[in-house]
Amino acid sequence: MARRPLVAGNWKMHGLQSSAGTLEKIIAGARTLANVALMVCPPATLIARFAAIAQGSPVVVGGQDCHALASGAYTGDLSAEMLKDAGAAAVIVGHSERRQYHGETDAAVRAKALAAQRAGLLPIVCIGETRSERESGRALAAIGDQLEGSLPDSGGLVIAYEPVWAIGTGLTPTPGDVGDAHRFIRAQLEGRYGAAGHGIRIIYGGSVNPTNAPDLLAVADVDGALVGGASLKPEDFLAIAAFYR
Ligand code: PEP
Repeated sequence: MARRPLVAGNWKMHGLQSSAGTLEKIIAGARTLANVALMVCPPATLIARFAAIAQGSPVVVGGQDCHALASGAYTGDLSAEMLKDAGAAAVIVGHSERRQYHGETDAAVRAKALAAQRAGLLPIVCIGETRSERESGRALAAIGDQLEGSLPDSGGLVIAYEPVWAIGTGLTPTPGDVGDAHRFIRAQLEGRYGAAGHGIRIIYGGSVNPTNAPDLLAVADVDGALVGGASLKPEDFLAIAAFYR
């Protein structure tokens, strides 16, 4: 089963109404890239507007987080249903910045992934080892634990393998280390979901830029990228995705 690559941009807490032109440039570039799915995950304040702009284009819009429940007294939170209602098609859950700054546990991430599936959104479940886990030789064990605790029972999802120490630092694992991690994740997915695990996309994230993208995206079992900083520059984001031209 062929997996269609996905290149998703995580804008984090960047972007104002005036950023619509950036999305329009990405949409224009996406029309020339038929072999890759492109996604932009802007701040929640921009989802409805971006979804309206992107409607009918090859670009889909995603959220960066959601609450596990559909509604309730949770001031400041947004449910997966609300993101869907605003026009999102997907949502990132368990990003390391959520795990680090908001104390999200594997169980909380799993609940959010389930919420996304309930609402009809594609969850992009983020996992990745810390620097100390990598240095102590525990990288695969750590991501194995995260997979065990963060994944929902059915496999309609994307995995983003993002080593924490590579996010926003300019550092990246070697292609060999990325290959080891993605092979390991693939085996875990096939163990958990059977044949369906083969069809799940595993994308790499962590300081991807137009220069290192060809080496990272060429690795076996790398089905695309989750791009932070470089996704704010349409020419860089499109240059990364152009690997799949
Ligand atoms: C991210 O935020 O998911 C990410 C990978 O960021 P960056 O590309 O900036 O490292």
